[in-house]
Amino acid sequence: MPLPDPDSNPSDVTMPLAGQVIVLDPGHGGVDGGTDYGDVKEKSIVLNTTLYLKDYLLAAGAEVHLTRDKDYDLAPKDMKGYSKRKAYDIRRRVNFIQDKNADIFISLHLNSMTNEKWKGGQSFIIQVKITRF
Ligand SMILES: [Zn+2]
Repeated sequence: MPLPDPDSNPSDVTMPLAGQVIVLDPGHGGVDGGTDYGDVKEKSIVLNTTLYLKDYLLAAGAEVHLTRDKDYDLAPKDMKGYSKRKAYDIRRRVNFIQDKNADIFISLHLNSMTNEKWKGGQSFIIQVKITRF
């Protein structure tokens, strides 16, 4: 879908996602880099992709919320222990999604497999009602 022409009359621009609340969740962040390839970390790629996708969805009329917009996790800065931070982080993400009453939630990740037999993209789609922790 092309982005609207900025010089076009606003009444000519279609907003196919108007009224839709979308939460984008760039996976990982902060101490959790996700998978990596050398110095390239999953958390950075998914954040950049999310920021691009956000602009695209906004241009289509959606209300867009991000669980993070920089390199951090959602645990308190002084919380110790990787597992404890991860558990707190995931609960905060779920609560964030629920608080926004999202119509659509997209969590962006890049998976890595050591078996070269597997190639290409993966999409997991599920329709669920999230319950608060
Ligand atoms: Zn991931």
